[in-house]
Amino acid sequence: GRCRLISGNWKMNLNHLEAIALVQKLHYSLRESDYRYAEISVHPPFTALRSIQLLLETDRVPISLGAQNTYFETSGPFTGEVSPSMLNKLGVKYVIVGHSERRDIFGETDEVVSKKTKAVLDAQMIPIVCVGESLKEKQEEMTEAVLTHQVEAVVSGVNSEGCESLVFAYEPKWAIGSGMPAGASDAVRGAEVIRATVSKFHGEEVASKVRVQYGGSVNSANAKEFMEQKEIDGLLVGGASLSSEAFAAVIQA
Ligand code: 13P
Repeated sequence: GRCRLISGNWKMNLNHLEAIALVQKLHYSLRESDYRYAEISVHPPFTALRSIQLLLETDRVPISLGAQNTYFETSGPFTGEVSPSMLNKLGVKYVIVGHSERRDIFGETDEVVSKKTKAVLDAQMIPIVCVGESLKEKQEEMTEAVLTHQVEAVVSGVNSEGCESLVFAYEPKWAIGSGMPAGASDAVRGAEVIRATVSKFHGEEVASKVRVQYGGSVNSANAKEFMEQKEIDGLLVGGASLSSEAFAAVIQA
């Protein structure tokens, strides 16, 4: 079966000292059974990755380290960018790719998202590829077409071995930070479209191994319903991952 993954995307929040404090408190709040229930990853800003790496190693905390973004080149004249191999050296296991904020605020195209996904796989890490439709696209009943297109752009460029390790996060844009999560049936439908598209390129078996998270206004009150759906393998949590209490409550929900 697919291993559950609950991820905290901190976005542009928490300096390295605040980050250390949060992970220490989070680990203190979690029980062994929580760690058995799901793999947990935290995605701090780049400035806190080294601090959190050391904390996780030194205190043997079984939380996985994640990044929020990367560039697709290995090294060179790309001022301000961070390469996948640098992240791998920091013990990063998961890299979020193509978050809707990257797509909309920083102009990341499907082509860029595809290149980043390949680069993360080449550097022996696991991409968490974010896909999701806008409110307008939803109202125009374009959700399936948008998801299909976004997933195709990524899976057409990777081999089956890389593809089966991918994590997709279905994050409807209208649900992000809005306090309006998708209904469980919409989230399931999103996961089904994602797997059907993977299947078109790489077959049923690969599609059945791909993990799909739901993201968008997840909190401790709605987490359980998403996790109960067999199509949904985990959560990508924004706001509710910014305090140890709230994130622990999501994990324990
Ligand atoms: P919120 O949980 O704050 O809605 O953010 C979701 C998200 O974008 C996670 O990547």
